[in-house]
Amino acid sequence: MNNKEYKHQWYMKHKKLTIARAKIREQDNKLYLKDRRRKIKIKVFRWLGGCVCVDCGMNDIDVLSIDHINGDGQRDRNSKKCGGDAMYKKLYSCLRKGRSPPVDLEVVCRNCNWKRYLTKMRDNG
Ligand SMILES: [Zn+2]
Repeated sequence: MNNKEYKHQWYMKHKKLTIARAKIREQDNKLYLKDRRRKIKIKVFRWLGGCVCVDCGMNDIDVLSIDHINGDGQRDRNSKKCGGDAMYKKLYSCLRKGRSPPVDLEVVCRNCNWKRYLTKMRDNG
């Protein structure tokens, strides 16, 4: 029996195990990526001043986001194509290069971010 035949026989004998292992690996990988994204987010928030909303003190990482103080987040997102994950990755790379955090970014929760937006809209209108 050559190596190829042996491998095939082994696979046929352990098919269920092989598939189960592959599934576990896939899940692990997903968890790893999710965890990695979360860790990057936490590091970026800490760099910007802390994992806490500067307006209300909320510290739930799932609802925290980054607000552009000048309110040009939309323009930034459009021009630099760095919304969501890409923005965090970009900020994380600046952090790792030892740069100082941008002064126009603040950590706020989604509620306060929305509240800021509404207040600004009301003031303008
Ligand atoms: Zn808040």
